[in-house]
Amino acid sequence: MQLRGGSVALRARSRWYFGIAATALVCGLAAMAYSLAHDAGIDRLAGQLRDRLTLSQHAVESEIERFAYLPQVLGEDERVLGLLADASDARVHEVNAYLANVARHAQADAVYLIDPNGLTLAASNWNLPSSFVGHNYGFRPYFTDAVEHGRGDYYAVGVTTGVPGYFLSSRIEGPDGLLGVAVVKVDMSPLERVWAEAGEMTGLADGAGIVFLSGVPNWRYRPLFALRDVDRDRIETERRYDGNDVFGRLPLVNALDASGLTHMTEEGAPPLAMSAMLIDPKGWRLFSAMQSAPVRDEARLVAGVVGLLTLVCLLLGLYGYQRRQLTRWKLEQNGVLERRVSERTSALAREVEERKRTEEELRQTQDSLIHAAKLAALGRMSAAIVHEVSQPLSALDNTLAAAGLHARNHAHDKSIASIKVGRDLLKRMQRTIKSLRTFSSRAKALPSEPVVIGQSVVEALEIVMSQARERKVFLSFDNKAPSALASVNAVRIEQVFINLLLNAIDATASMGNGQITVQLRQAGSRALVEFHDAGPGIPDEIADQMTEPFFTTKATGEGLGLGLSISRAILEDYDGALSFSPAPGGGACAIVSLPLAQHSARLVLAE
Ligand code: ADP
Repeated sequence: MQLRGGSVALRARSRWYFGIAATALVCGLAAMAYSLAHDAGIDRLAGQLRDRLTLSQHAVESEIERFAYLPQVLGEDERVLGLLADASDARVHEVNAYLANVARHAQADAVYLIDPNGLTLAASNWNLPSSFVGHNYGFRPYFTDAVEHGRGDYYAVGVTTGVPGYFLSSRIEGPDGLLGVAVVKVDMSPLERVWAEAGEMTGLADGAGIVFLSGVPNWRYRPLFALRDVDRDRIETERRYDGNDVFGRLPLVNALDASGLTHMTEEGAPPLAMSAMLIDPKGWRLFSAMQSAPVRDEARLVAGVVGLLTLVCLLLGLYGYQRRQLTRWKLEQNGVLERRVSERTSALAREVEERKRTEEELRQTQDSLIHAAKLAALGRMSAAIVHEVSQPLSALDNTLAAAGLHARNHAHDKSIASIKVGRDLLKRMQRTIKSLRTFSSRAKALPSEPVVIGQSVVEALEIVMSQARERKVFLSFDNKAPSALASVNAVRIEQVFINLLLNAIDATASMGNGQITVQLRQAGSRALVEFHDAGPGIPDEIADQMTEPFFTTKATGEGLGLGLSISRAILEDYDGALSFSPAPGGGACAIVSLPLAQHSARLVLAE
């Protein structure tokens, strides 16, 4: 019990270990799958952002390059040079018309001319309320850069119009030095519209980090990352984003990640992954962002699937393992069963062997008993023969001596009487010997013939009649089948009937006066002769033995115990049978059954 309890506890503990190991494996593989899928997703996202940035970069650069030549070309025009040399009204009017024409054809937002003091002399929008003419832009970097370096470019919100644009400028040189500056203002908002329509979260920030173009309107004029103080001062001085509170707004990210992908999380907005690239030589930053939640969701899905698959594999493995265990257990059980069966079989074989030996011993015992019984029977027979023969012999001896004495005394009558007694004694001995001879010659087949059974019964009755009368026993015969024939030997069948009648007389006489009834009847194809006596009946304990040779309950000298055994043997020779049953009203009933001869059967049918 203790061992079993121990193994149960061990099994429970190993089940726990398996559970913990399985959970760890599932979680570990799921986590690994999440990490791999997430990294792959982020890489993919970074690649998509890179592609998008490359496309946008080309768009931005081509937008700028489109107008790069224009300021210089303007500075070479005679009308422009004439105006800068002598600013008469007629020339102003002529150049205004020329600039308006150039702006229309080049699709520039505005084209204008500034004198060396920063004052706008002519502009393509000269006839609009937002005309640049007369305004001084000497503070704008695009003017100072052009004066100092020959060229300038600058993105800013127009101080006159409030409309943002990209300003490209070129110094106009005269024979005596600076004549003025030609400026082209380019509207870059179409880029913004393209991004917005494509749903792209792409934007462009200036060198300081202020977003000036974006597909997301909310991001415009907002710092991309935390501004430096020096940049802040410059922007204020240049009035770059005039009218917009660029400093009061939070930066989109704290700083751009050196790895190339910056994660952006804003309250109330989905998490984003952002990538940025520098547009040289302007120092602008083109950036684009995409939602990173799908990557995370996809990674979670992959982790879930991997975890589930691992779990399924583990369960399948467990199922297989348990099936193997079950099969092994069944095989073990079968083995145990087979062992038990073979043990039982060999035990049975031993038992059978034992029984055979016992039977053999029993048979030997029976044989020796039979042998002993035969010897006893032989002894009984010898005693009976000795008694039957020696008693008449000594009587004969005495009788013959008496006869001799009577003869010497000339008493002839007495002598004759003694001789008669002697002859009677001899007859008695002959009778005994005759019955023994009958027994010994039983096997010799005597010729059989159709015998009227009733006739044989009558003859047997006549033979025993005197004895019955002597013993005060009355005989009667009820012949219900007078024509019944049996194929037997008449003498031998009569002997059977006499034996049975003598036994019945003995039994009936032992009870005092009585009646013996013999009945002959037919039952089917057999004739039945029944001898009903008024004797004591047959006790159960001798019923089985009474037909055995030499079995007798009579005193020595009165019976040899051969009558019934000889009768039964004779009947069996003719397919007959002998049986006993209690007689109605007490006593015994001996029943002789004989097959009817065919002739008699025909006779019976004829009757
Ligand atoms: P015996 O008559 O010489 O003894 P049997 O073989 O004729 O030999 O009979 C054997 C025994 O069967 C008898 O000793 C007797 O005990 C018993 N027996 C036979 N017939 C009857 C009967 N009608 N009633 C009672 N007992 C009988």
